[in-house]
Amino acid sequence: MAVREIVIHPAPVLRRKARKVTDFGPQLQTLIDDMVETMRDAPGVGLAAPQVDVLLRVIVVEFGDEEDEEVPPKLYSVVNPELVKASSDVVTGVEGCLSIPGFAGEVDRSLEVVVKGQNRRGQPIRIKASGWLARVFQHEINHLDGVLFIDLAEKVWRLEEEDNQLLAAD
Ligand code: ZN
Repeated sequence: MAVREIVIHPAPVLRRKARKVTDFGPQLQTLIDDMVETMRDAPGVGLAAPQVDVLLRVIVVEFGDEEDEEVPPKLYSVVNPELVKASSDVVTGVEGCLSIPGFAGEVDRSLEVVVKGQNRRGQPIRIKASGWLARVFQHEINHLDGVLFIDLAEKVWRLEEEDNQLLAAD
């Protein structure tokens, strides 16, 4: 496993549409392992393949329980993820992005989503998420279509050094 370099906005790769994964061979396995390591190293709660300069539809998300710190964070790696359901109930929250360091913005996201995709072996998976986890999935799936949180945010602002440490960036 290796930590890869995170691509920083306005790199063109962040604006392109990622391709569907059809080959679940060793290259994909290495990519996913490296993405997990890169996300943890950052640290962040999610990462999409275009953020490490790979135009494939792959995301990783690692997030613990919002209410209970004792619950260990759960790791999701999703290949070809799709939002198959997104609640019309939206919540406003503050987001950051590892590719846009030093900035945060308020973004409205669906409170609940269902994500369909494949696991790293190519088997179908379906994930129901709500709250912050649902937000992270929406943010990461946006990356696969070249959409960044700054496109959706009502307000974007520059973070102070100390705020930067506190914000869970993805
Ligand atoms: Zn991001």
